[in-house]
Amino acid sequence: MYLKQVEQLVMLQKIDDEIIVLDEELSGAPKEIEVLETEQARLAEAGNQIQEKIDFLKAQQSRLENEIEDDSLKLKKSKSKLMQVGNTKEYHAMMREMDNLEKLNRLRDEDKLAVAEELGRQTEAINDLGEKSKAVAAQLAKAKSNLDSRVKVAKKRLAQLDEARKTAGKTVPKPILSRYEFIRSRLHNPVIVHVAAGVCSGCNISIPPQAFIELQKGQQILSCPNCQRLIYWLEHFPNDAAEPIPAKIPAAAASASAAAE
Ligand SMILES: [Zn+2]
Repeated sequence: MYLKQVEQLVMLQKIDDEIIVLDEELSGAPKEIEVLETEQARLAEAGNQIQEKIDFLKAQQSRLENEIEDDSLKLKKSKSKLMQVGNTKEYHAMMREMDNLEKLNRLRDEDKLAVAEELGRQTEAINDLGEKSKAVAAQLAKAKSNLDSRVKVAKKRLAQLDEARKTAGKTVPKPILSRYEFIRSRLHNPVIVHVAAGVCSGCNISIPPQAFIELQKGQQILSCPNCQRLIYWLEHFPNDAAEPIPAKIPAAAASASAAAE
């Protein structure tokens, strides 16, 4: 009976370990999607900012083009008028004006070049961003479709484990079970550990000789005086010393062992 109880406690622990992993999986999956959605929003925002810059640059570009065209037209008109000018003073004034227009247009040409270069850089940046957005969108779609099936599988397994947990709990006396739950709520894993060569494998400290003798008797479930974890003697499980119970316990196997009792 004692050995059976230890076995069931160890199984309980394995079940609870798996439940912890599944709970993390269940709460982690939506987080993964959240991270991707945040990234998607960030990329969209960055894209908007770049688009604003591009719009501004394009407006600048067309403004420069219009101004260049307008002044070129003025220049053409002035050139044709120049021949009809009568006096020198007027002629020089017109020449100066034409000089100014030409100078302005040269500056505008330089500006236009700079704007075109910047436009090229920003276009490259927005294309880059578009590629990244596409990749994130694909990841997101995949993660979302995975989530449903993952949640389904995890929930099914959790239900199985819950069943197995109840079965394991039946064999263990209530006070020990509540001790187990108490330790689980306060200590890091594991709750039940083996003692080998007089040393608790939970805290790696030797247990007092008297307690070790008691443990070897195998009559009642004891706790490590140091770390308070439930302990069992490794030698009581000679066949599968370190792992008295296989790690994966399908619910069917758990109820089968319960039935065999
Ligand atoms: Zn200990």
